[in-house]
Amino acid sequence: MATQIVTKSKLGVDQVEPALTPTTEHLILPKKLQLGDSKTRKRDIPEGLWTKCPSCSTMIFDKELDANLQVCSKCSHHFTIGSRERIHSLVETCSFEEMDADMVSVDILGFKGASTYKSKLDAYKKKSTLKDAVVTGIGKIGSHRVALGVMDFGFLGGSMGSVVGEKLTRLIERGTEGHLPVIIISASGGARMYEGMFSLMQMAKTSAALAYHAQARLPYISILTHPTTAGVMASYATLGDLILAEPKAMIGFAGPRVIKDTTQAELPPGFQTAEFLLDHGLVDAIVPRKEMKERLVEYLNYLTAGRQAAAR
Ligand SMILES: [Zn+2]
Repeated sequence: MATQIVTKSKLGVDQVEPALTPTTEHLILPKKLQLGDSKTRKRDIPEGLWTKCPSCSTMIFDKELDANLQVCSKCSHHFTIGSRERIHSLVETCSFEEMDADMVSVDILGFKGASTYKSKLDAYKKKSTLKDAVVTGIGKIGSHRVALGVMDFGFLGGSMGSVVGEKLTRLIERGTEGHLPVIIISASGGARMYEGMFSLMQMAKTSAALAYHAQARLPYISILTHPTTAGVMASYATLGDLILAEPKAMIGFAGPRVIKDTTQAELPPGFQTAEFLLDHGLVDAIVPRKEMKERLVEYLNYLTAGRQAAAR
């Protein structure tokens, strides 16, 4: 097959590493690789440097996607973003102090299935460089110190087990003690089945901690991202004083297919999307990822205005 090779300068693409598109016509190589060495050239090119947007089918260079906070620059499709990248996009540089970074899940039920819980945990720890599905800590957003918890869908589907519940509970309690607003960004398939009842108990524990936080008249902002479902949706994700969502995020307790099968009814268009829930009053605002930080500062200014005035 004929392979057309073009240099990066011809395409005006600002890149350093060799890249390979899914079709060989667009093979882009830096100049030095084009000089000789033709037999080994193909093998040297790493794959996976491009991502196809599932919404508009545009091929996006991964570095461009990273720079754009994992949002398609053509159609604004919001890809899943890792918890650390998200924290980085929100907090002031070097202001984030992580809490309970070494807390790890225990296979309390000795779960055995197609694969054991322990082997799943080991695999995801290796793949994601995370220890569990949430990162928590205290950081500054604008001039506001906040208790921030960010879930990561990349770790076992963002499922909530004992570690997620405990880390978030400690975060909320730290927020209450330190008179800080709490912000939790959810992305979850729900409770973690490998921990059975222990994962369900996290719903009550996190909700109770939020009740004490609310009693102290401190604001809690819940941000729902794609997807936020099941046990997380039925606990802390929907308890926000302010509930924000990312555009087109799938949000609901059970999935639309399950509801359709159970009720045997046609579901309305856009059912269980952020936009549908905004129209029906569950979500207060839809905020694109790139505007999130700015908007959070505005909301925090508003929600803490009384406290700041009292302190003066
Ligand atoms: Zn797109």
